[in-house]
Amino acid sequence: MGAEKRRRSRRGAGWYRVALALVLGAAAGFLIRQRSLPLPPLAPPRWIARQPGRAPVQAQLQPRARAQVGGGAPPDADAASNGGAPDADAANGRPPSTADAPPVEARARFDAAPAAVDSRPRVAIVIDDLGDSLEAARAVLDLEPAVTLAVIPFRRYSTRVAAAAIERGREVILHLPLEPERAAEMGGAPGFLRTGMSSDGLERQLDADLAAVPYIVGVNGHMGSRFTQDPVAMERLLGALHARGLFYLDSFTTPASVASVTAARLGVPFAQRALFLDHDPRPGAVARALAELDALVRARRSVIAIGHPHPTTLAALAPWLAHAAAAGTHVVPASALVR
Ligand SMILES: [Zn+2]
Repeated sequence: MGAEKRRRSRRGAGWYRVALALVLGAAAGFLIRQRSLPLPPLAPPRWIARQPGRAPVQAQLQPRARAQVGGGAPPDADAASNGGAPDADAANGRPPSTADAPPVEARARFDAAPAAVDSRPRVAIVIDDLGDSLEAARAVLDLEPAVTLAVIPFRRYSTRVAAAAIERGREVILHLPLEPERAAEMGGAPGFLRTGMSSDGLERQLDADLAAVPYIVGVNGHMGSRFTQDPVAMERLLGALHARGLFYLDSFTTPASVASVTAARLGVPFAQRALFLDHDPRPGAVARALAELDALVRARRSVIAIGHPHPTTLAALAPWLAHAAAAGTHVVPASALVR
């Protein structure tokens, strides 16, 4: 009787251990998966390595890549106007300066690609708003390799997503937060450039944003409906990007954007989005946007479309990209369409 009870309780304890092991195993698997995107790699992206005259970049990339691993707090965007709280430059032991461009040791200077030698139509797909989720980044990295990733600074996984993308040979651009018409949309998020900033304040915030997303070759705007229609603010921003050897892709969130004329005047390498893939992320709307993209590619031969890591967008993009390649469209990184 006693022995039977003990056997039963032993059997019960056995099942309990098996269940516990399964739960712990699942939890460990989840954690490992969350951490499986690698830290910054120590080699430049393949597309940089491929380009002539960029050989020194590899050596230069390393210190900054390592420096980024620890992350860093965003500076107080208004440090200048608030009476000079310590800023990113001071923290790095560099005196803040507006006259000198910051070191560009981690970046290749961007030079617009020569005109296409083949006559195939070309399309660049940029996926915006990355940095909050490793799952989303993984899904984007599963797409065709020419898809460009635009990473927002100071999000939980910004540095890691950029590093993982570079390690897989993808192009990364900074998705730079720019002031929208409705200030409430900023929601207190860090990294925004605002029209009311002083020239110094704007450069300081820009440098902090650039430092938060390693290996970028260019910048596109996040929001920005107010900022991009302000001629003074855009001249400051594009002048600063020019000094740092970066291109600007206008997300064109307002038809009043002065980015194109300002870039032309300053000689900044520039491109403009032609189409958003998922203003409405429902499958039917994304399918219609992709059909519109097909028409634009036929008409213009060279098109940049921006989408977001919505499951519906990525699910529709995968077959679209395969189809586009089969139909003779050349899918290229955004930088290839910058002029
Ligand atoms: Zn955005």
